[in-house]
Amino acid sequence: MAEQINHCKQPGGPAVSFEDATSKGAGPLEKVYAFWLAGMSCDGCSIAVTGASDPSVEDLLLGNVPGLPRLVLYHPVLNVEAGEEFIHSFELAAEGKLDAPYVVILEGSAVDDSLIGGEGYWVGLGARSVPGRKDGNKVISVMEWIDRLAPGAAAVIAIGTCATWGGIPAAEGNPTGAMSLMDYLGKDYRSAFGLPVVNIPGCSPIGDNFTEVVAMVLHFLQGTGPLPEFDELGRPAWQFHHTVHNRCVRGGYYEEGVFAKHYGEPECLVKIGCWGPVVQCNIVERGALRHFGGCMNQGGICIGCTMPGFPDKFSPFYAPAPGSTISSETSKAYGRVVRLLRHLTMDHQNREPHWDKIGDTPSGWALQLHREPLLRRLEDILYRKLQFATAKKPGRNIPEVKYRDDFEVETKKQEQARNGEPYPDGLKWGYQRRRAKLERETAEVRRS
Ligand code: SF4
Repeated sequence: MAEQINHCKQPGGPAVSFEDATSKGAGPLEKVYAFWLAGMSCDGCSIAVTGASDPSVEDLLLGNVPGLPRLVLYHPVLNVEAGEEFIHSFELAAEGKLDAPYVVILEGSAVDDSLIGGEGYWVGLGARSVPGRKDGNKVISVMEWIDRLAPGAAAVIAIGTCATWGGIPAAEGNPTGAMSLMDYLGKDYRSAFGLPVVNIPGCSPIGDNFTEVVAMVLHFLQGTGPLPEFDELGRPAWQFHHTVHNRCVRGGYYEEGVFAKHYGEPECLVKIGCWGPVVQCNIVERGALRHFGGCMNQGGICIGCTMPGFPDKFSPFYAPAPGSTISSETSKAYGRVVRLLRHLTMDHQNREPHWDKIGDTPSGWALQLHREPLLRRLEDILYRKLQFATAKKPGRNIPEVKYRDDFEVETKKQEQARNGEPYPDGLKWGYQRRRAKLERETAEVRRS
């Protein structure tokens, strides 16, 4: 990397900055601050985001995405600063003293600190000195940061299922009052730019889903793009419109009624617990990391981790979804017929037309003719009749007008007829030679 790393003196700036970033943004903003907070979380969202590639976190930080302002990220794990130096910029943001807009990102569930019934906190970030206290400090709870930062933020983004819907920390038996960021901030919450909470669910979410949305929101803040489309639950609509099943690599098996009985088998996984038909997620088309991996691509079932009801409404994960029996048994019934018809068609389409004409295949690799020739012939005739029932047959049986002044290229058949050439065995030009070659070869094999 050719950039010169400088220590930054600007209040609220990062500890280091890269002077020669290739793009400073096309609009009025040179940078946008991002404050990453962690509630009840496992840090899986952070790990997923650091693996994103389209765009990568590094590109956003360095201002390498054309037209976008640089992102100045404050992250409790990734930043090199610690202690007061790290918290300083959070304080400046809460006091409205930053020199650029900021966004707030929450990973992990919001919690209800009031349940503790005292001074305690469930999750904290930093501390402030409190004279007179025994240890001299009081930890600042993450919920306090949310309370202080959310009203002035240009956008508030909940990443991962814990932050978007409550997730695993909010499952049955939850002692912390864990809830989604939307639930915590309330339905009237709007950011300084008028946005409700943006939700990017997933446990863990796809890193690229997040960086893509951040890039689009930055475009919006920069004035170089429209506000991206969100659905009625605040999810990026283009990412969460379709169900997993709509794009699943195993969808064809479902349609033909072929189901895996055990993990490791290539067929549809609905009988061993896949919830894909009703879960909105783009994991199979986008992949988990750099377009690789993803649940069904790797052999795993969909357990509904992007959905508001996860995990309680999707458990137990080892049992088939109650509603799947009717649909899978129905597809099993009609799937048999569909499969049979498709196999007939595949047999037909796996042969070159001239193999059919000469009645043989040219190599040991070619499809073996495993049915009675008469039956095959009838099947081919029927298929071709249906195939060209409403279309012109390809080939040169019809004179083609190819040139100006209505000059026609004759078909070979017409040409042969004009020259008085015979068609032995009713075979068209070209097939005679192939048939003769085949007969020669067969005779040679018999002689040897
Ligand atoms: Fe649908 Fe799941 Fe089967 Fe894929 S594995 S086709 S998502 S039911």
